[in-house]
Order: sequence, then structure tokens, then C-alpha cells
Amino acid sequence: MNYKIALIRGDGIGPEVVGEAVKVMDAIGAKFGHTFEYVDVLMGGCAIDAVGKSYPEGTAEKCKECDAVLLGAVGGPKWGHSTEAEKRPETALLSIRKDLGLYANLRPAALRPALAEACPLKKETADRGIDLMIVRELTGGIYFGKRERYATEDRGEEAADRMAYSEKEIERIGRRAFELARLRGKKLASVDKANVLETSRLWRKVMHKLAEEYSDVQYEDVLVDNAAMQLVRDPGQFDVVVTENMFGDILSDEASMITGSIGLLPSASIGDTAPGLYEPIHGSAPDIAGQDRANPIATILSVAMMFRYSFNLPAEAKTIEDAVDAILNEGWRTADIAKPGEDVISTVKMGELIRAKL
Ligand code: NAD
Repeated sequence: MNYKIALIRGDGIGPEVVGEAVKVMDAIGAKFGHTFEYVDVLMGGCAIDAVGKSYPEGTAEKCKECDAVLLGAVGGPKWGHSTEAEKRPETALLSIRKDLGLYANLRPAALRPALAEACPLKKETADRGIDLMIVRELTGGIYFGKRERYATEDRGEEAADRMAYSEKEIERIGRRAFELARLRGKKLASVDKANVLETSRLWRKVMHKLAEEYSDVQYEDVLVDNAAMQLVRDPGQFDVVVTENMFGDILSDEASMITGSIGLLPSASIGDTAPGLYEPIHGSAPDIAGQDRANPIATILSVAMMFRYSFNLPAEAKTIEDAVDAILNEGWRTADIAKPGEDVISTVKMGELIRAKL
């Protein structure tokens, strides 16, 4: 098969880590008989420098002509101070998610066995293993509701943010999560605050209806405060966790912390029809940009997610994941995951070693 992939290399370490991920894709192509055609798409700070805006006209259209999008990272101190939205790199991230209709954000948090010591939790907790996937609703809820700020007579200024969810929005993210659970360990925890919030009560009603349909998936409701506790007490109990936008924002960061390094964690944002967007969870790391020190693993694992979720190529995905684990097991480390005194390797060297293991 031939696949067309949009590459948004972006800023800072973005081009370095995407460069290594592309070489891994090509190596997988050679091994499994696929070809990949790449379309470079300008977005972020580099686009501000080149054409004066972070999200140039035609960005979404170019991406829509592709089968998937791979993004490095955008942003950096150079572009951090503009008050104009189109001159801020982060505006481009929100725009592309919206324009591609990416309503589901998938963030796996897996503790790679070779790095168990980087887990900040108790050893016996880490030893039980952590391999969960947070499915966050990405285009609804309080982040997209009406915002208000007004003066009151006797209480000073007051602000309000509206949180709304429709049955349709809940059902589509719920279906995604149940389908994913079927591909993984067949367990789904739905996180809400149904003891307080009306949106959560509707969320629960829709999820329960879906749970009857997906009766092969073991389903449970978890209140968000309890979920936050359970993630540090016993994260091994979770397989797939589905939740609304704001709870997902917070819990997915908590889940990534317990795995030890942001240089290792991939993510995917997917919709119903548009190409999925795959990216490491880290930013552009301006402090180490251009020094061949960035860890490319999160971006390489994002390619594995692309193969699994956009192209339905699980064997290719697993080959990449196994190669990463093998290299980590052999003790190779970039600076971000090395212990004090340990030898460290460069971005390019890490990419080379992983390719050699494929
Ligand atoms: P960051 O993730 O870029 O960096 C945080 C720390 O982690 C830094 O010390 C950095 O060196 C390190 N780090 C990150 N990725 C690494 C990797 N692959 N290998 C080794 N070390 C790594 O977060 P930040 O400093 O808060 O943000 C920097 C810029 O990135 C900001 O402009 C921010 O807006 C942007 N950002 C972009 C995205 C995105 O494009 N999706 C996401 C987050 C932040």
C-alpha cells in the first residue's frame, strides 16, 4: 500500500524528532512492502517567520489530502509574546484540531519495563505494570462553552464558563472508547462527576446504554476525584479510561507523569473521517533544540499509533514498539531518561539503533 502523510515538523526539536520518525517509517515500509509519500506542511512559529501567521491558509486542506498527519511540536519563546492570535503558534494547534474534526484524543501511558525505576510511584506499584490509554473528548465541554465576565452590584466581578455536552457528542466518544477497549484489554472506565454535574449524569446515561451494546467489554463508572487517586494508588487496574475534555486534560497529564518521561509518550487525535493527527505529548523543548539531544522515542511511538489506528497495521505498530523496548532493555539512553553518570546517546543515534532493531 502507498500512504500519503502530512509532516508538520514545526519548531524547536520538532524537525529533529520528526526526521528520525520518518526514517523509521521508511524502514518499516521496506520491511513490510509499503511506500510512504510525505507532504511538508508549514505550521507554528516557523510559519509565522515564513508567511506571517502560524496557521497559513490551506493548512487543513493540505492535511485532508493525506491519510494521516505527523506533528513534531510548535512554539517557543521567540513567538511567545504576540497579542495577535494568528501570530501565536498555539492557535494553530487548536485550529487544526477543529478543522480536521478531531474529537477524540488518545493518550497511552505505558511504563516501559526497562524504565520502571523512572516511575515516581512505589516500586511494588510499578512492578504490577502500567499500560493504560486515556481517551479524552477534545472538542466539547467547558473549554468550548460560552465564557462570561461581568460586574455585580455587591460581589465585585463575576465570571462563568458554560459546560455543555449533547448525547451525540457523548455517544461518539463513548463508541471510540469501547472500540478501543475491544482492541486492548476489554476494560473501560468512564470518568465523570455524576454526583454533582448534570453533564456527567447525561454522560453516564449514554455510557450505560453503550455498555449494554458492548457487553463483551467490562465497564465501570469512576468519579473523577477517585480516578485521580486511583491513578497514583494503583494505575495497573486501568485499561481504557474515557472522559470529558477538562477531566481528560488533567488526568492525562497525571497519567503521563507516572510513566517517568515525557520524551517517551505518543498521542493521537482522531475524528470520524478526517486524517488522524499523531504527535508526541511533549512540546518543542527550546532549551535543547538543535543540539541533537532530544529523545525521538515519543514521535517514533506516535508513528506506531498511526499504523495501528489510522492504517490498521497492528503488526507494523508492534514491530516499532518492540524495537523501542529492545533498545531500552539494552540500556541505551538519551539524556532525558539517563540516570546521573550514565552514558547518553544523541537523537540521531537513538533513531539509528531503533531502525536497526526493526
Ligand atoms: P516541553 O515539553 O517543550 O519541555 C519541557 C521539558 O522537557 C524541557 O526541559 C525539555 O527539554 C524536556 N523535553 C521535552 N521533550 C523532550 C524530548 N523529546 N527529549 C528530551 N527532553 C525533552 O514543554 P515547555 O517547555 O512547557 O514548552 C516549550 C514550548 O513548546 C512552548 O512554546 C509550548 O507552548 C510548546 N508546546 C507545544 C506543544 C505541541 O506542539 N503540541 C505541546 C506542549 C508545549
